Amino acid sequence: MKYKSEETIPHCLECGDPLPYGRKDRKFCCPSCRNRHHNREARQWRFRYSTIIGILEKNHDILNSLIRIGIRSIPKTELVQLGYRMGFVTSSGREGRRTVCRCFDIVFTDMETRITGLTQETLPWDREDPPSARSL
Ligand SMILES: [Zn+2]
Repeated sequence: MKYKSEETIPHCLECGDPLPYGRKDRKFCCPSCRNRHHNREARQWRFRYSTIIGILEKNHDILNSLIRIGIRSIPKTELVQLGYRMGFVTSSGREGRRTVCRCFDIVFTDMETRITGLTQETLPWDREDPPSARSL
């Protein structure tokens, strides 16, 4: 026969106090603990989210400035020296034999030691005539 030890008694996820008897799925001792726990998780997520977006934005800025000066291919070592963070792209996948990566609207082929085919992608709304051209 098993006896209930201290460890099997459920504890509040926020303050660690033993939980009063009640619903089995209860995780918090009181509404205030539940709110504090959820607020902290939301803060942690916002921090993670804004950090990742910041890295992606910086990567995009670096790739964009390379395109602006006519660079289409660059060794990864040089890219990293410019502050680029490898592995932070908005998508990556096989297209035929190439691994094609995208960082927002910039597309490139990921080779072993360098990236090639660096271009700004044409998006569906780029093809539409600007309002000024239509009114002519
Ligand atoms: Zn609590």
